[in-house]
Amino acid sequence: MAASVHHEFRTETRKVLNILTNSLYTNREIFLRELISNASDALDKLRFTQNKGQSPCQPDLPLEIAITIDKEHKILTIRDTGIGMSREEMAENLGTIARSGSEQFLADLAKESDAKAGEEGEAKPDAAQIIGRFGVGFYSVFMVASKVEVTSRPAYGDAPAATWVSDGLGTYSVEDAGDNAPERGTVIVVHLKEDAEEYLEKYRLESVIKKHSGFVPFPVLLEGEKVNTQPALWREPKFSVTKEQYTEFYKALTYDHKDPQDQIHLAVDAPVQFNALIYIPDTEADIFGMGRDHWGLDLYARRVLINHENKDLLPEYLAFLKGVVDTEDLPLNISRETLQENVVIRKIQQTLVKQVLGHLEKMAKGDPEAYEKFWQRHGRVFKMGYNDFVNRDRIAALLRFNSSEHEDNNGLISLETYMERAREGQKTIWFVCAPNREAARLNPHTEIFRRKGLEVLFLCEPIDEFVMEGLGKYKEWDIKSVESATDEQLKDFSDKADDKPKAAPLTDDDTAAFDKLLARIKEILGDKVKDVRLSHRLADSPACLVSDDGMSSSMEKFMRVMQKDDSVPVKVLEVNRDHGLMRAMLRIFKADATDPVLTDMAQGIFDTSLLLDGYLKDPQALASRTNTLLAQAGAWYAEVKKI
Ligand code: ADP
Ligand code: MG
Repeated sequence: MAASVHHEFRTETRKVLNILTNSLYTNREIFLRELISNASDALDKLRFTQNKGQSPCQPDLPLEIAITIDKEHKILTIRDTGIGMSREEMAENLGTIARSGSEQFLADLAKESDAKAGEEGEAKPDAAQIIGRFGVGFYSVFMVASKVEVTSRPAYGDAPAATWVSDGLGTYSVEDAGDNAPERGTVIVVHLKEDAEEYLEKYRLESVIKKHSGFVPFPVLLEGEKVNTQPALWREPKFSVTKEQYTEFYKALTYDHKDPQDQIHLAVDAPVQFNALIYIPDTEADIFGMGRDHWGLDLYARRVLINHENKDLLPEYLAFLKGVVDTEDLPLNISRETLQENVVIRKIQQTLVKQVLGHLEKMAKGDPEAYEKFWQRHGRVFKMGYNDFVNRDRIAALLRFNSSEHEDNNGLISLETYMERAREGQKTIWFVCAPNREAARLNPHTEIFRRKGLEVLFLCEPIDEFVMEGLGKYKEWDIKSVESATDEQLKDFSDKADDKPKAAPLTDDDTAAFDKLLARIKEILGDKVKDVRLSHRLADSPACLVSDDGMSSSMEKFMRVMQKDDSVPVKVLEVNRDHGLMRAMLRIFKADATDPVLTDMAQGIFDTSLLLDGYLKDPQALASRTNTLLAQAGAWYAEVKKI
C-alpha cells in the first residue's frame, strides 16, 4: 500500500496560502460557509447520480452535513455523506488553485491591501469579498486552522479512503486513511489556531451557520441538532415571503454583500410549469471582465439542483440577473448536452425574458428613479439586447441616453421622451459618438444642431454605435448620426434666437472670391481631401471633416481597426465662411492668392480637423506649424500695438 507521500504546493498556490494564513481578515467566519457549501455540492453530485439510477456505496446513508466540536483538542469536524474524493482527486482538487489567473489574483490582492492600508492604517481586508471574487473556497480554512486533515471515501468505485493533510504552509501529504475514515463522503478535521477558538463555541457556530448557510438544501446538524431550517423560498407563495427572506436568500445565493435592488418572483403554469426567483443586483456585474463566465441561473428540477450558472435560461443581455429556476417539466437525469437543446429550457427562457421586460417596463413607468439606478448598474449589458429581434421594440423603449439637453453626465432620457420633445416636423433621432460627454459637446458636427435647437443623443460607449446602427429605426423615426446630416435634412428647421453677434454678410464680390479660396485650399491640400466646400453646419469651428457615405467617424475607425488599415481616410473638408479665421484668410487671399501663409493656414485647419476626428498621425508637424503661425501672429500683434 502506498505510504504517506509528500508534495509541495505549486508556487502560485503557496503564495495564495501565504496571504490567507498570514493576514488577518475581518469576517473570517465565512470559512465555515465555504466548507459547508463544498459539502453541499458533494451531496448534490451524489443525489444527481442517484437520480440517474446509479447506486453508490452505503445507499441508505442519509444525505446530510454534520458538524461536531472537540473542545479539549481544539478541533472542529465537518462531515458529509456526499460523492467523496479519491486519493488522486484530493491531490488534484486540494493541491492547486483550481481557477486560472491566480497571478491576476495576487496582483489584485496586493492592490487591494495597498488601497486598504492607504485608507486607514489598521483596516483589514474583508475575507468574504476576496474569497467570493477569486473562488478560493477550500483554502479559506487556513485563515483559522493550523492544520487540516481531509479524509474521504468515494461513493463509487472501490478506491480505499485516503487522508490529505496540510498545515497550509509549504507542503501537503496524502496517505491511506486510518480507522476514522467515513463510510462514504468526506470528513474535514480542522485544528483551530489559538486566535480562532471562538469557533469551538456552539452558539457562535450556530449563528454563523444560520447567517451564511441557512438555505443549504441538506440538513446541517450541529452537535446532532438541525440548524438550517429555511424552505426552498422560490416555491413558497409570494405573499408569504418577507423582504428580509428575499434579501437573505439573495445573499446566500450570490455572496453579494449588498442588498439586491429588486426581485421577480414567478410561478408559471403555461407553456411550461416553473417557479423562479430572479434578482436584480444592486452591484454592477463584471460580465466584460474577470467574471465573464460567471453568470446564469441555478437550475433545479423538482428541488434538485441540476446545475449552477446555467446560461441557457437567459439571453446574454440579461446576464446581470441572479436567481433560481425550478421546474417540474424536466427529468432529473438530464445531461448537460441535451439540456442545451431542450424545448422546456427554451420555453422557460422565452417566458423569463417576457416577464423581466414587463417588470422593467413597469419600473420605468412607475418608479423612474429606480429605473435610472437600474440603468446605471446594468445598462451596459442590457443594451446588447438590440439584437434580440423578437423583443427589439420593447428593448429600444427601455434604453436610456444622455443628451445635449442635459447639464451633465447624470441626465437620462428615453427615445420616447426624445420624440415627445423634438421639434415640430422632426422625424429623425440624432446621435453623436464620442469618447466622453465633453468631446460629444465640442464635436463640430453638433454645432448646427445646437443652433437649431435639435436635441442630440450623446453615445459614449463603444457598443452604443452598434446598438444605434442595429436599431436603425424606432417607431418610424430614423436613427442617424449627426455626421451624416445633410443640408437638405436640416433646412426646414429655422435657427433658434442666438445672442451671439453674427459675422457681417459677404458682398457678392467676396462671395465669388471665397469660392476661389475654396479651390485654392483644395489645391494646397491636394489628395489629402476629397473636396473642400462651404459648410452650413458649423458655428464655432472654422472647419470639419465629413464623409460622403454617411458612415460616422467612430464606426469608420472601428472598421479600419478590424481591417488593420491605419491609413488616414480621405474626406471632404467643410469650412465655415463666417469664422474669423476664414475671413482673415479671405483678406489675405484677395490681396495675394499665392501668399505662402495661406499654405500654413490651410494645413493648420486641416490638421486640427484631423485631430478632432482622431486621425492625426504627425503631431510634430502640427506643433511646428502652429508655433510658426503663433510667432508670426505675436510679431504682428506687437507691430499693430506699436510695442
Ligand atoms: P469550488 O467549490 O469553487 O470548486 P473549493 O476550493 O471550495 O472550490 O473546492 C475545491 C474542490 O475540492 C471542489 O471543486 C471539489 O472538487 C473538492 N471538494 C472540496 N470539498 C469537498 C467535499 N466535501 N467533498 C467532495 N469534494 C470536495
Ligand atoms: Mg467551494
